[in-house]
Amino acid sequence: MGTTNLINSNLHNSNKGMLICKDCGRVICNISDNLHCYKISYICKCGSMGSAEANLSKLDISDSSYAVLKDNHIICPCCNTSLLALMPENYINIAFRIKCKCGHTINKFKNYSDINKRLFEYNLK
Ligand SMILES: [Zn+2]
Ligand SMILES: [Zn+2]
Repeated sequence: MGTTNLINSNLHNSNKGMLICKDCGRVICNISDNLHCYKISYICKCGSMGSAEANLSKLDISDSSYAVLKDNHIICPCCNTSLLALMPENYINIAFRIKCKCGHTINKFKNYSDINKRLFEYNLK
């Protein structure tokens, strides 16, 4: 197990589970077992800023790729695993760089319906 750094946050387990704003107790997101390297920063609805980092040394910071957002779950586009469950009603903004167990690094997401729309536009679906 590597190191986890929390700023202004609580985490249910050592490096996974519910990420909670220390100031107001809102749950920001749920970090899946499939995620061993990540950096997640957020601005909570209460106005506090917080972040969580785990095993940053294993995170490839040059890699940049989109995840699929479906029903508030961040899903790896390579292996279809759910990596993060977001609670958008509890934060103002969230940013992340996460690495799936399959090795894929993700730092942004697109809405599932938008992706379907794009595929449709390009006649790929
Ligand atoms: Zn808060
Ligand atoms: Zn994956």
